[in-house]
Amino acid sequence: MTFPLIGEHLALDLLNTRTAEGDLVADPAGLAAWLGAQAGRLSAVDAVGEGEVAAVRAVREAARPALDAVRRGERPPAQALRALNGALSAAPSHRVLTWGEGAGPAVAVHRQAGPARRLAAELADAVVELLTDPRAGQVRECEAHDCVLLFLPAHPRRRWCVAGVCGNRARVARYYARHKDG
Ligand SMILES: [Zn+2]
Repeated sequence: MTFPLIGEHLALDLLNTRTAEGDLVADPAGLAAWLGAQAGRLSAVDAVGEGEVAAVRAVREAARPALDAVRRGERPPAQALRALNGALSAAPSHRVLTWGEGAGPAVAVHRQAGPARRLAAELADAVVELLTDPRAGQVRECEAHDCVLLFLPAHPRRRWCVAGVCGNRARVARYYARHKDG
């Protein structure tokens, strides 16, 4: 499976698993592919099952209304806050000091929970990080009318999720609109 947009903030990557075409992580195979594409950003899950799918989708369904509210400068719905905080508290974490050979001291986060809860907590953590980031208000939706993907523009002029895809489609559509009577 390929994902149209990946490598945005982890919370946006999560939200972008719901596209105009459908839900890309609706089953274990889809979620496993997405987790593979996020390798290094989330702790590894050995076997992805329905439990992980449900946990990830629950965080995503809470993240969307929470982000929409924060983008408008409003308080997120209580249910969304409850769901995100529930995911965080279901996998208590502590920091672990490690020592990498040649790399020196480093800190890792250990979560005491099974894979589904751990995954949900890591994603909820990313959502909280985004919501509390002053740039959360700058999150944009792709301007293509049939695209719902979200991104945080590094450049204020960015209009498309992927310029080579949605930007091109918009250019082609404009071209045909201009020439349809000629
Ligand atoms: Zn797009």
